[in-house]
Amino acid sequence: MYFVVIMAFALVLSDRLPVAGGSILPGAPALHQWAALGIVLAQIPLLALISGIGAVRTQYRLDGTDAGHDEAADELSWFQQFEMVVVSAFLLFTMVSTPWPQVVREVWGLGRIPLVAELVMLAPMGLGLLAAWTMQYPAELRLRVESLETPGDVTGNPEAAGNRETEAAAALRAARRTPDPARTGLGAFLFDKMRHQVLLLAVPMCLIVIAKDLLTTYGESMAAWPVPLPKDQVTRSLIINSALGTVSFIVLAFAPVMLRYIWATEPLPPGPLRERFERICKRIGLRYREILLWHTHGMAVNAAVMGFIAPLRYIMVSDALLETMDDEEIEAVFGHEAGHVRHWHLPFFGVFAIVSMYVAGGAMILLTLAYGRVDRPIDPAVTQLVALGALLVMWLFGFSWLSRRFERQADLYGVRCVTPDVKECVDRCPVHGQARGAGICVSAVNLFGRTLGRIADLNGIPRDAPSWRHGSIQSRCELLESFAGDAEAVQRFDRYIVYVKATMLALTVVGTVVAILLYYEPVMKGLGWK
Ligand SMILES: [Zn+2]
Ligand SMILES: [Zn+2]
Repeated sequence: MYFVVIMAFALVLSDRLPVAGGSILPGAPALHQWAALGIVLAQIPLLALISGIGAVRTQYRLDGTDAGHDEAADELSWFQQFEMVVVSAFLLFTMVSTPWPQVVREVWGLGRIPLVAELVMLAPMGLGLLAAWTMQYPAELRLRVESLETPGDVTGNPEAAGNRETEAAAALRAARRTPDPARTGLGAFLFDKMRHQVLLLAVPMCLIVIAKDLLTTYGESMAAWPVPLPKDQVTRSLIINSALGTVSFIVLAFAPVMLRYIWATEPLPPGPLRERFERICKRIGLRYREILLWHTHGMAVNAAVMGFIAPLRYIMVSDALLETMDDEEIEAVFGHEAGHVRHWHLPFFGVFAIVSMYVAGGAMILLTLAYGRVDRPIDPAVTQLVALGALLVMWLFGFSWLSRRFERQADLYGVRCVTPDVKECVDRCPVHGQARGAGICVSAVNLFGRTLGRIADLNGIPRDAPSWRHGSIQSRCELLESFAGDAEAVQRFDRYIVYVKATMLALTVVGTVVAILLYYEPVMKGLGWK
């Protein structure tokens, strides 16, 4: 879903769409405004229909048995992925091959006001998602209720079902907001979906869109620039783009603070659970602004650490995580999230973003070198589309690959993080057993595997379902188990990730050098410094 939102904003940020000659409704956009609107609106019931079929099939499989429950979870997760493919296809088609962007910007004249045209362009997608979620609601609710009602059967951990007094339960009781059972209606469900899946990215992206609109419309004529903007077009766009890049970076750095208010959160109440988290953070040297309890109406069993730098970093644990997991499992989840921070995964995703930009730029340059001729230059819309295509491939496959590696490294960190709290262990454990050596604790691996499995079950995700960002739960557990008995494999894995990170840094340096070589001359000339 996050991928679709990012793509949507990338498309509206590109002001050269639709591609010249690529439109299915050629001619003046004004002629086709109602046809374009019709095409866009027709996508909403289509999405609802697909979603409705998925919901009916999911509920049909829920027959009260464990096998039926698993099949239903499979079915729903398959349909949700299929829906994302359909939404992406609709979006690409609308923006690239219909005059819809021009109709909104030019014919209706909305392009003059910052952000309005972009929001109107994406509104049908938002409505389509709301329609799809409305159709899915009964199926998702039933699936979730079944998961929570039969934790003993579904999760294979009968103790968790009892009413034990856990640190987590105490924390939930002390919370200012207590879960209101009446608030599980459709409205609350849709609002939660919207803010968890769309708004968390859309709000920062909207700020970037506003900055872009202001920079391009007013920036050209602004006298307030520190240096008067040069006449040269390349230098102008380079300066405006650098300014936009700086704004984007600042917005992203502050995104966790926005998230804190976009989602329903409050500081985790003082008590043994909070003390446990604080103890672990101190032990592993993790600094943060606040530990937050995240209210999801029991819909998300999840934890997250958000933020590049400590003063803007939040640790979040969801209500459902505290309700359903025991204290050690919560610690395991937390250890995984801490691993992302300690291994610099977020900054390296930023490095990946830079690398993917260089790759897209490289694709544009190669295209120009291969096919461009002085007498017949390539349509800029085509080169922009090629760059966008390169970006899509990089993010669909490259990001997914990198993210799955990082998830496994975070898993490994999580295992190491809970190891000091393991009280009893087996003889063959390389950390606690007789034959001590390098390797990771067997009990910690078991605890971690159990935790991953329970999270998958509670979130209604099949254990062998592939995931774009995380990889399947099963493959993650298997890797950890193989590590438990093989110290060498752990070292190999650690080294491997170091190589991956080093390669990314090297590519960034190479790309930057190439960019400087390409732009140094024209920019210096444009600024009149040479
Ligand atoms: Zn993770
Ligand atoms: Zn051990």
